[in-house]
Amino acid sequence: MKLAELGEFGFIETIRAAAASGEGVCHGIGDDCAVLELPVGQRLLTTKDLLIEGVHFQRGWTDSRRLGRKSVSVNVSDIAAMGGRPRHLYLGLGVPVDFSVEELQLFMDGFLEAVTEYGACLVGGDTCRSPGPLLISVTAEGAVPAGRELLRGGAEVGQGIYVSGTLGDSALALQLFTSGLAVDPYLEDRHHDPTARVALGCALAKDGLATAMIDISDGVTADLGHILKASGVGALLEETLLPLSEAFQMALHNDPQLMQLVLSGGEDYELLFTAPLGNESALRALSDRLNLPLTRIGMVTPSDEGLRLRNAAGEVRNLDCRGFNHFSAVSGAEMVK
Ligand SMILES: [Mg+2]
Repeated sequence: MKLAELGEFGFIETIRAAAASGEGVCHGIGDDCAVLELPVGQRLLTTKDLLIEGVHFQRGWTDSRRLGRKSVSVNVSDIAAMGGRPRHLYLGLGVPVDFSVEELQLFMDGFLEAVTEYGACLVGGDTCRSPGPLLISVTAEGAVPAGRELLRGGAEVGQGIYVSGTLGDSALALQLFTSGLAVDPYLEDRHHDPTARVALGCALAKDGLATAMIDISDGVTADLGHILKASGVGALLEETLLPLSEAFQMALHNDPQLMQLVLSGGEDYELLFTAPLGNESALRALSDRLNLPLTRIGMVTPSDEGLRLRNAAGEVRNLDCRGFNHFSAVSGAEMVK
């Protein structure tokens, strides 16, 4: 069925029927605005992401269901990076004329499935026909206990720099897609269906374990660069400590140049944070409880030392904090990042 046959209001009605209500939702989809309530003592977090076909994704490389899931996760990841829990999402869609109702339904199935998994709910949005590519605009709102929100500006000299999970998997998958090569299913999943680290972010904030935090969307060097700038500090990273998946290590064995993807690849959606070294045993216990690796990859240093990387041979070099820039010249693999 073509979308024109179902119509905008028919489409909204199908979403309304499928979107579950949730905690704090006084009135969800169906009026001029949603009416929402925050728990007492919590602050509101809001964030927005735009995903454009041909810029952020290619329809031919993924399926609509996983695209729906990823649209939620990349947004919720920003809420997690503040130490918050996601509560409400809003979806704006520009739908190309060749997109069928069935494809749209798959997208919505994935979107709503992920929203539910994160304990949030869809409370509003807008949709219209796109004369060009598929446009996906998602706004997420979350809540964090007042004063517990984790900003980028709290890192101090002498603290450790930590990261969750493994790095570079998503960027490696993207590089393989771009080259038309076969992609390991694990790597493919890391790119098409990343997981926002909500439980970790909430625990770090609630227990006051971290001093600054960000999620890795543009690469470790670029995102750590934001923490360093906001905190007025530098950093020394240890190349040998960067956590890599088995699939990535196998690829790296054949091509040592891939180490660059670990540092500047992006779209890992892991959490990068700083913490006093005295918190290490608490972080180990949290890692065990969440069954999620937490790795110290370096130390916070004085600002005049900048961002540096020490390799296995003990050689130290400066790193460029510039990550992916959507407004820089577009070429090759960057086009679809
Ligand atoms: Mg972010």
